[in-house]
Formats: sequence, structure tokens, C-alpha cells
Amino acid sequence: MTSRDRPDHRGYFGPYGGKFVPETLMSALSELEEAYNEARGDADFQREFQELCREYIGRPTPLYHAQQLSAKIGGATILLKREDLAHTGAHKINNAVGQGLLAKRMGKRRIIAETGAGQHGVAVAAACAKLGLNAIIYMGEEDIQRQSPNVHRMKLMGAEVRPVSSGSRTLKDAINEALRDWVTNVHDTYYLLGSVVGPHPYPMMVRDFQSIIGEETKEQVLAIYRRLPNYLIACVGGGSNAIGLFHPFFNEAQVKFIGVEAAGRGLGTNQHAATLAAGKRGVLHGTKSYLLADDSGQIRETHSIAPGLDYPGVGPEHSYYKDSGRATYVAVTDAQALEGFELLSQTEGIIPAMEPAHAIYYAAKLAADLSRDQLIVINLSGRGDKDLDIVRKLAGAEP
Ligand SMILES: *Cc1c(COP(=O)(O)O)cnc(C)c1O
Repeated sequence: MTSRDRPDHRGYFGPYGGKFVPETLMSALSELEEAYNEARGDADFQREFQELCREYIGRPTPLYHAQQLSAKIGGATILLKREDLAHTGAHKINNAVGQGLLAKRMGKRRIIAETGAGQHGVAVAAACAKLGLNAIIYMGEEDIQRQSPNVHRMKLMGAEVRPVSSGSRTLKDAINEALRDWVTNVHDTYYLLGSVVGPHPYPMMVRDFQSIIGEETKEQVLAIYRRLPNYLIACVGGGSNAIGLFHPFFNEAQVKFIGVEAAGRGLGTNQHAATLAAGKRGVLHGTKSYLLADDSGQIRETHSIAPGLDYPGVGPEHSYYKDSGRATYVAVTDAQALEGFELLSQTEGIIPAMEPAHAIYYAAKLAADLSRDQLIVINLSGRGDKDLDIVRKLAGAEP
């Protein structure tokens, strides 16, 4: 397995992480941490997770040589880790199944979760149906409007979707509401958080479940190319698909990590979600990390064309990677992501989700200046079917 010296026993990655929650949740977090530490050392639990990965999620996902894309750019060799082919169409299912198994092991059958675009909600609904658990999904009213097909999917799989009408009625408000529910119902309820954010042990636990992405990538790239990749590139919302790819390569210092955030309408405007590129340190949703806030400390409204990147915080391990220089973080605008979306669709016949389209755009630019013997792995975190409406509306809006 992967190197697991971080976080420390208090849940810190350097100065980031920790548990900033109401007193009522402290014992729930301790109980969760204890249960998880037991589970991750238990061969039966790991075997069950691996089996579900294989039989239910469809792992391992391919490491695909994007030949036409590489040829068109004329530089480095570009490989895609095909998380878009995982069940429910994105990497989120890896974590949903892992935590679902843990909840079951803890004897908690009432599962609550937050969702923004609905991808995590769909993954949780699927995992809960499969594992015989009850799913309640908190979702902002604004997001329910924007992402109605995913609301329908969740309901079809037996989940209850609870609209959240507070704040900006989007993801951060859904997380607040889920935390409130957890405080009230902590004795029988498991909170299934969707990214490497929130209080310890979530950033560690979600990272571990998503690390299957990087573990497979390492095995696949060594088998095919007999060497490690030069670059790993992934989009960063909360940061789970990126950390899942990066983490198993942490000790391989020659492998460069690049996280791509959403620059929205531009970093010069306030309409972006580039937390690491343009944020400051603070506490949000129970963890210390970079975040986007105004001068009075109020969390800012964010914007991205990619619903999954539209979050004012980021996982504490990424903040640690940023400050230590282990990873580089860059930002790509809505318009550039749309170029990446079209580029992959047209060269490879693969329609990416708008989130990894950010990574594709950046990787294509980088690849052009590199030689063919350089290997770039892009994490194709999800498929684009969910974004067709966004693209169609944009096309319609053009003069
Ligand atoms: C949710 C989502 C993301 C962003 O979440 P991370 O935790 O940063 O991975 C990226 N891509 C897709 C396809 C998503 O659904």
C-alpha cells in the first residue's frame, strides 16, 4: 500500500487539517477514526473493497494512450487514466463504496451526504442501494434546478433528496446542512463526505479510497512503458481525484504533480474557484486549509463552468503540497476548459466532464513544449454526458 506517514495523529498535514467542529461531533469523529483504522488494517475489509472495485465499479480502469491527441499536439506522450469508465461515470464511486462499506461495518444504516453537481450524490445513492443502506442527500435548491437529471438518478436508486434553501443554495450550504443533521442524529447516522475536505479523518480516509487510481496507474505505466511518468495532471475541486492519483507517487520525487483549478471568468475577476492559486489560509467545514474569502473573512461566492470545481475550499493535503512545493497548482478559465472539452471529444471520441477538461487544456499546452519520450498522465475524472446542457447553452448564447 501507499506511504501513510501523513497526516499526523491529530490529523495535520504540516499546519493544515485538524478537526474544527462543535463539541458534539468530536466523539463521532473519534469513533469514525477508530473504526477506519481498524478497517484499513483488516484483510477482509480490504478484500471486500477490492472485490466491489472489480465487480461493481469495473476496475481497474484503463490507462489509455491518447495517440491522436498526442499526435495533434506533436509533443509529449499523453496517457489518460479512464475514471470516466468507472460505474456512475466518475471517480466519486470509489470513495462512496469504500465509506459505504465502513458505515455498514460500524452498524450505521442511515447515510447522509452532500452534493453539488450531483455526482457524489449519484455515487452515494448507487453505493447505498448496492449495500442495503438508506441514503439522504442534501443538495442546494440552485443545484437541484441546474442538475435535474442527477436528482432523478438519485431518486431512481432509492435516495431521498433534501433541498437546501440557505445561503447561496449550493454545495457549501449543502455541507453545512449535512453537518447540522449529523450533530442531531450522530448516534445512528454516518456522514459520507465526498472529497478530501472536512475534519480529520475525512481527508485521509477519502484519499486512501481514491488512491486506487494512482496505485493502478503506477502498475499500468510500469507494465507498458517500464518507467514512471514525468507528469501527473488532475483537476482540483476539493481535490480527491488529484490526491488519489498523486499520493501513491509521493516518494517518487522525479514525478511532477500539477493540480489544475478553475479560473472561471479569470483570476482578475471574483468569479473563479482557484482556491490554491488565489486564496488565503483559514478554516472552512472543519478543516484548516486555503480558502476563498473576502477581506472581512466572509466565504466568497465562487464560479466555474464545471460544477464539481465550484467550491471555495480545498483539501488540507493539497495546501501542504503547495507550500512544500511537492505539487504545482495552476488555473484554467471557463473558455480554455471548453477548448479542452472540444479537443478531446474531436481527437479521441471521448467526451470529458467539464472538470477534467481543465486538466486536458493545461496538459495539451504543456505537452507541446516537451519531447515525445516525456510521459504525461491526465486523470480523466469523469465523462461529459452530465455537461451537455451547459455546453449547448453556451453555444446557443454565442452571437
Ligand atoms: C466532483 C468531481 C470533481 C471534483 O472533485 P475532486 O474532489 O476535486 O476530485 C472532478 N471531476 C469530476 C468528474 C467530478 O465529478
